[in-house]
Amino acid sequence: MPACPRCEKSVSAAALSCPNCNLTLKAHGHPGMILYRAKDEPLCVTCAYDADNSCTFSKRPDAMTCTLYQNINATQSGLQSAPYSAPPRPWWKGNLVWIALGLMIVVGVAIAL
Ligand code: SF4
Ligand SMILES: [Zn+2]
Repeated sequence: MPACPRCEKSVSAAALSCPNCNLTLKAHGHPGMILYRAKDEPLCVTCAYDADNSCTFSKRPDAMTCTLYQNINATQSGLQSAPYSAPPRPWWKGNLVWIALGLMIVVGVAIAL
């Protein structure tokens, strides 16, 4: 069970706010949207999106709260899951039109004979 960053009491992972100190833990009232909070220095200092210069948030580089924060150490050590890649598409899915046309020609020739 995670701990509240302010009072450090255990809170449910789905809690929108801390039941002890009322600190907001999730952004926009959505249980799946974690609101990351800085302790001493801005989150951007250790964020992968600051390091690769891909962040366009206006609060960068001094963000003390952020929903997209991605710890650069987690990214570098492989703790973060690999980006999703779709499974390969079967060959016939891209050729359905040609398969249908071929079948129509075969059926047409069979009927003509
Ligand atoms: S995603 Fe958030 S923490 Fe990361 S660089 Fe942008 S503003 Fe900073
Ligand atoms: Zn708390």
